[in-house]
Amino acid sequence: MSYPVGRTLSELEHNLAAVQQRIVAACRRVNRDPSEVRLLPVSKTVNDDRLRLAYQAGCRELGENKVQEAQRKAEALADLSDLRWSVIGHLQTNKAKHVARFASEFQALDSLRVARALQRRLEAEDRTLEVLVQVNTSNEPSKFGLAPEDVETFVRELPAFTRLQVNGLMTLAIFSDDPSRVRPCFVRLRQLRDRLRERLPTGISMDTLSMGMSGDFELAIEEGATVVRVGQAIFGPRLLPDSYYWPDANTGQDGSG
Ligand SMILES: *Cc1c(COP(=O)(O)O)cnc(C)c1O
Repeated sequence: MSYPVGRTLSELEHNLAAVQQRIVAACRRVNRDPSEVRLLPVSKTVNDDRLRLAYQAGCRELGENKVQEAQRKAEALADLSDLRWSVIGHLQTNKAKHVARFASEFQALDSLRVARALQRRLEAEDRTLEVLVQVNTSNEPSKFGLAPEDVETFVRELPAFTRLQVNGLMTLAIFSDDPSRVRPCFVRLRQLRDRLRERLPTGISMDTLSMGMSGDFELAIEEGATVVRVGQAIFGPRLLPDSYYWPDANTGQDGSG
């Protein structure tokens, strides 16, 4: 997979438009309305100057994998008051206080301990947080997220956390160039969402499916994604290896190792 450079304003505008076009095309293939799909630009490793250009190019939300990096950027860009931050990576309870302060959304909820820590910190900040429950759809032991069969019990506990607005599910597919291995992960998340919708009490929203990244967002849209998290197709190739952000990604594009 090779990605375009995204350093100047016009490169970023071009890349964003190209991704939007691909979103529209993927929606057309399966008769979906493109307005159902939210593009979350993922800005990890991208420096503040380029983030300001991305804002100029129209980005009003950014996704970050690591809390410290996200918080530092949120503070540096605090003058862009309508810019929202989404934390999309695993969270340790001792970092909940930071997320409670600056993030609008947290996409990687996978334990009651973290839910409790967030609730407490959000009360202190008098804020609320939109959350997605992360599901491990690839059955890789080192991936974060709940096993699909554990999600229903978990989600039933969440209404107790009044500061968390639960919107749905998030997953990372298997790291592979082979669509026949990637697609089943997305299908699994959609089917889980549909099952939960039937079984959960009303009042727990399960509308959002965050799935798909630069290498696989079109497949994810074909399988029902309502949020795609796209970094490199907008900002260009990352220099840091993916293993820095995902413990199990050190085998490169093929995740079978
Ligand atoms: C980095 C990241 C993405 C985006 O990956 P790209 O290959 O840059 O599109 C999506 N989701 C999560 C959780 C990430 O950490």
